[in-house]
Amino acid sequence: SQLILDIKNLTVNFRVYGGYLKVLNEVNFSVAQGEKVGLVGETGCGKTTTMKTVMGILPQPPGKIVQGEIFFHGKNVLTMKKSEVEKMRQTGISMIFQDPTAALNPVFTIGQQLHDVVQHSQSSDDGQSRLSAHQVSVRALQDVSLPDPKRILDNYPLQLSGGMRQRVCIALAIARSKQLLIADEPGTSLDVTIQDQILRLLNQIAAEKQMAIILISHSLGVIREWTNQVYVMYAGSIVEESTTEELFSHPLHPYTQALMDCVPRLTGGGTAEGIPGRIPDYFNPPTGCRFHPRCPRAFALCSEKKPALYRVNDTHQVACYLYQEANQ
Ligand code: SF4
Repeated sequence: SQLILDIKNLTVNFRVYGGYLKVLNEVNFSVAQGEKVGLVGETGCGKTTTMKTVMGILPQPPGKIVQGEIFFHGKNVLTMKKSEVEKMRQTGISMIFQDPTAALNPVFTIGQQLHDVVQHSQSSDDGQSRLSAHQVSVRALQDVSLPDPKRILDNYPLQLSGGMRQRVCIALAIARSKQLLIADEPGTSLDVTIQDQILRLLNQIAAEKQMAIILISHSLGVIREWTNQVYVMYAGSIVEESTTEELFSHPLHPYTQALMDCVPRLTGGGTAEGIPGRIPDYFNPPTGCRFHPRCPRAFALCSEKKPALYRVNDTHQVACYLYQEANQ
């Protein structure tokens, strides 16, 4: 089906004292209409930086886009005018973050913050313009299953619980955008039961509104349960892509295999932390395949040249020389 988002060869550095951190290294990533796509990898591997670049909120400086293209409905975000990027954020893509408190302004009521968003997005959506901003705001809070929306509109963020604040963030995101929602570790700062409710809610909203979702997580359990397509990221590159089902039944990249080995077998929970070896130094990253210093199967070529993504079948790609012959 049709691609909504298509990231090609995205390379991003961060300027630091004495040089650059080479944070993203030729990232390729795409999302089709209605897909639920997971992006999994260790903390600090570049997941959030990739998505902030998509949203046009990468701080520049210190960030610097070295190369690449990001197409949203076929239009390159990196060459859009500021006003076009703004419009894309109001009606096309929105992002929710791990910490709902930081995303809300403490000095305005929920109602004030929702009205503001609704007014902006309505100017470009005639279907809703007959409803008042108030009605749309109430409906947005109902969409995220918040009880007593009229009362919540008058509340300030700190009057609500963490779980309710996260729901408000989702309401703000979906009031704004109707096509793609990027959820960065949603609910991770909350307890497990609430996190599960938040993920369930996102899933339900995506289905009802036929939105695509990108779910960023370091948790394999979350990815397995809530996505149907998955990208594995390591040290600023995509190392494996496949359907979620196939990734969990046939993980191919040695990094993905190492991740799976850390997961307690019965629960299928676990996170992308704690595989052996040191996390990479982005100041002076390993040459070739950035995983080679930690890879049990590395051979000479691995440290010389970065492997391309090799296609092993219609739905599975892997950036590892062990699968090079699959492409020939
Ligand atoms: Fe390991 Fe080489 Fe494959 Fe990288 S390319 S994952 S170092 S075998």
